[in-house]
Amino acid sequence: TTTTTTTMEDCCVKVAVHIRPLIGDEKLQACKDCVAIIPGKPQVQLGTHSFTFDHVYGSTGTPPSAMFEECVSPLVDGLFQGYNATVLAYGQTGSGKTYTMGSGFKDGCQTGLIPQAMSALFNKIESLKHQIEFQLHVSFIEILKEEVRDLLDPNSSNKSDTTNGQTGKVNIPGKPPIQIRETSNGVITLAGSTECSVQSLKEMADCLEHGSMSRATGSTNMNNQSSRSHAIFTITVEQIRKANPGDTNSNDAIGDEYLCAKLHLVDLAGSERAKRTGSDGMRFKEGVHINKGLLALGNVISALGDEKKRKEGAHVPYRDSKLTRLLQDSLGGNSRTVMIACVSPADINAEETLNTLKYANRAR
Ligand code: ADP
Ligand code: MG
Repeated sequence: TTTTTTTMEDCCVKVAVHIRPLIGDEKLQACKDCVAIIPGKPQVQLGTHSFTFDHVYGSTGTPPSAMFEECVSPLVDGLFQGYNATVLAYGQTGSGKTYTMGSGFKDGCQTGLIPQAMSALFNKIESLKHQIEFQLHVSFIEILKEEVRDLLDPNSSNKSDTTNGQTGKVNIPGKPPIQIRETSNGVITLAGSTECSVQSLKEMADCLEHGSMSRATGSTNMNNQSSRSHAIFTITVEQIRKANPGDTNSNDAIGDEYLCAKLHLVDLAGSERAKRTGSDGMRFKEGVHINKGLLALGNVISALGDEKKRKEGAHVPYRDSKLTRLLQDSLGGNSRTVMIACVSPADINAEETLNTLKYANRAR
């Protein structure tokens, strides 16, 4: 007898580390580079600690496209077979998450993983569109204080709310909050969020730019553009493979094949602990909530990565946060997940870098 089991290969979470170069502030403070890559190995050394990952990317040695080719390109290809996927950028504020993802509207515009995923997707569609009908949608939301906010809402304005020192999106009063729902066949949907139908790379890029400009930011002493929210850019690819491509009678759909898959590209909230941001009461509360999402994510990913636990059908705690709930159908099962742990090489950040490497190591 044969049993179909999901092998580790199919389901595991891949973890990569991205070490950015020393940047302005760190150079001015004459910081030392304290993170070393073991030559020829996906291994990182920090002090006496050494960690092995699936991939390690530094600022020299590898071409900028290597991370995309190795980590994300297979996930884009998987969409065409109907596999959901998630790419997560994890790390302290200032470690390069937004730069790596390309989810900011100025940084990493061309070289970030999201723009590269978008062009790879459209290239692939171009080569298949004579046989397959495609429908593409994007959504862009953020989770702040366990609340889901729509970054593509055409009706909301970007106002500065100076009463609490926060710049962010002001939700229209009376607009129902976005709710995470699960259909009877396990598909997670976001009720009430904007789903933009896009026809071209340009339209998709416009959605990315529009949403990233709406993203709430607030200042802390870590970084005045620091993000305390998780930003999730989702591309949904629907395919209809016509059984009779020449048949113009649209009512005859017998034998047509329908496939739908989504790719979540996630710029996570800063992983630094709330106490380091010198927060007042309100910020601290946000810090606690952010940690709730990151904590739940760590637990979910480590439960998925534990082969023994998985075989025993162990409980995966998706429901512990909005973030993991939203990603539930795209983490584990048949879906593919890549976590990019972003770190600063500077000695002043060594403690947070070590925390990030430990978190990423646990995910593996
Ligand atoms: P985060 O989103 O984690 O807070 P950012 O992506 O905003 O961090 O990066 C912090 C700063 O470092 C930015 O000024 C960004 O331009 C710079 N930076 C990040 N990664 C790189 C990189 N790989 N090469 C050059 N500069 C980088
Ligand atoms: Mg950022």
